[in-house]
Amino acid sequence: MAREQDDILHRGIGMTSQRTRERLIQRLYEEGVSNAKVLEVIRRTPRHLFVDEALAHRAYEDTALPIGHNQTISQPYMVARMSELLLEAGPLDKVLEIGTGSGYQTAVLSQLVERVFSVERIKVLQDRAKERLTELNLRNVVFRWGDGWEGWPALAPYNGIIVTAVATDVPQALLDQLAPGGRLVIPVGSGEVQQLMLIIREEQGFSRRVLGAVRFVPLLNGPLA
Ligand code: SAH
Repeated sequence: MAREQDDILHRGIGMTSQRTRERLIQRLYEEGVSNAKVLEVIRRTPRHLFVDEALAHRAYEDTALPIGHNQTISQPYMVARMSELLLEAGPLDKVLEIGTGSGYQTAVLSQLVERVFSVERIKVLQDRAKERLTELNLRNVVFRWGDGWEGWPALAPYNGIIVTAVATDVPQALLDQLAPGGRLVIPVGSGEVQQLMLIIREEQGFSRRVLGAVRFVPLLNGPLA
């Protein structure tokens, strides 16, 4: 790795980082994440660059952390689990992500699929996420400032769609934008009662799998400057 790139990756983090990162991977594995590619990508993605410097020392804990604007960077276990569910039936070329946030899940996905299209409603979060991905030289991502309830119809259909905020109902637009065989991973519910769901577009209609209780910030309405 080039010296400069190495400096970027290790900025603001102590000598324990490699060990701490290994511990996180071990923990995800023990909690049931079994896709080796997903684990490898999480191992090499510098999560500390996606949080405020003051929180960088906690970046490899398996926990969500605040990123401002009442939003959080997703818990590594959730990022791993949702990525694994998307990839369960094989590689994907076009993936739509709703809720860019810090860009951490985006960065992980971009190393696992051909192309990522990522929608965020808060402009400043999106701008910062864009900068981070450029800094990490992850170039197969296109960003859109908009309302995730509408998906990104102009570029549909998608082989995978991932939503990183909890929706009160499954947005119809996202179902419409799934390619045949396409997979949608989405938390559904409100407040304390939220379930992670996997919805697949079958030859006729959709199949649904409920995967257990989760905790996400809400999918809100409309873009915000
Ligand atoms: N995966 C992100 C999680 C961010 S939290 C990360 O790891 O950093 C959820 C994100 O969804 C927030 O950034 C929030 O602004 C965004 N969001 C909420 N409602 C939205 C909507 N309707 N359209 C697009 N983004 C939305």
